[in-house]
Amino acid sequence: MQTQILPELLATPAGQRVDAILRKCVHCGFCTATCPTYQLLGDELDGPRGRIYQIKEVFEGLPADRSVQRHLDRCLTCRSCETTCPSGVDYGELIDIGREQVESSVPRPFGERLLRRLLGSLLPYPSRHGWLFRSASTLRGLLPTGLRQKAPRIRPLGNFPNPSSDGSAGRVLLLEGCVQSTLSPNTNAAAAAVLQALGYEVLREPSPGCCGAVNQHLSQTEQARRWVRGNLERWQALDRQQGIDFIVSSASGCGVMLKDYPRILQQMPAVPDEQKSLVERIRDLSELLDAETLRRRQPDFRAPELRIAWHAPCTLTHGQRLVDRLRAQLEALGFRLSVPRDAHLCCGSAGTYSLLQPELSKQLRDDKLDALNAEAPDLIITANVGCEHHLGSASELPVRHWIELVAEGLPR
Ligand code: SF4
Ligand code: SF4
Repeated sequence: MQTQILPELLATPAGQRVDAILRKCVHCGFCTATCPTYQLLGDELDGPRGRIYQIKEVFEGLPADRSVQRHLDRCLTCRSCETTCPSGVDYGELIDIGREQVESSVPRPFGERLLRRLLGSLLPYPSRHGWLFRSASTLRGLLPTGLRQKAPRIRPLGNFPNPSSDGSAGRVLLLEGCVQSTLSPNTNAAAAAVLQALGYEVLREPSPGCCGAVNQHLSQTEQARRWVRGNLERWQALDRQQGIDFIVSSASGCGVMLKDYPRILQQMPAVPDEQKSLVERIRDLSELLDAETLRRRQPDFRAPELRIAWHAPCTLTHGQRLVDRLRAQLEALGFRLSVPRDAHLCCGSAGTYSLLQPELSKQLRDDKLDALNAEAPDLIITANVGCEHHLGSASELPVRHWIELVAEGLPR
């Protein structure tokens, strides 16, 4: 695609990236076929090609307006389009830059500003939102139907085994996550048990924080960078004290943000090289699951005798491209998984999307649950806390993180 980016924007690193990304796009439109918002709304401007075109126009000097902002807001950042694109267009990066540019020039109505600020200053801090989620979960049964669906269902900490570990596989810093540590603390407990069973020594964070994804999704770039900087400083201190081989997240939504740190760090020149090098040790939990090792170390491991519907989060499928690996490892452990039709489509959770775009989000959730329930499974598993609670808000069946089932199969 030919571009004519404004010279003052082309002089910036962001403008140069936009130019390079746009030039890769050949405008073929293959991506629209796999875009959930285009499928629901049937409007070219609510598909990837249309959004790319709108960002191009903004960088070429056409003033952005509320209409452009709305079309960019409706994007789930699921990156299904990126997987489909034959030209390797880095859509996820482009939409991030495009949103930031539009945000700086188009004021939002007061209510939207307030909601976004509230979400950005509440969700990344377990100490600020933990009490709210816990109260809503406890009082769930007493709430009217509409509110009940929105209230989280926090499961009690699982009774997972505590296998001894010689640490021969390495030392892992397990990131507990901001929302995950309050909504699904059982996921972190299960992850620690399985990592130990695989031979890792597990370090828990002294106080869980955020990877920066919440603020990043809300185009609150400075706050997101503060999280990145703070995390690198904390990890560096731990690494100096104890030595860390891997930095692991069990929520694929956090994982995709963490894997994006190298790109973000390019915009943060003051970060020392020692901190920058830490990002090479970031792994998604699924990357450390090795069925052969687990079977060898835990010969009495028992796979669940259940029919399991597998919901692959976009952040694992498109963002990290790890979905086939994880499914293969789970099947090698004896899991019986069914994959729903249109598995590549987002469930509508997408970070804060379910709160900011409730109508579209609900439609996607209901379609996803229909697909997941088609083969009458006993339960649904996934790999991200957001999908787990979003699907769980309307599901008759339990929705759980895959690691909990692996942990329950370990010998007691
Ligand atoms: S598939 Fe890729 S090259 Fe084709 S329109 Fe979409 S982003 Fe552009
Ligand atoms: S990221 Fe997802 S919702 Fe956004 S344009 Fe791409 S496919 Fe569509």
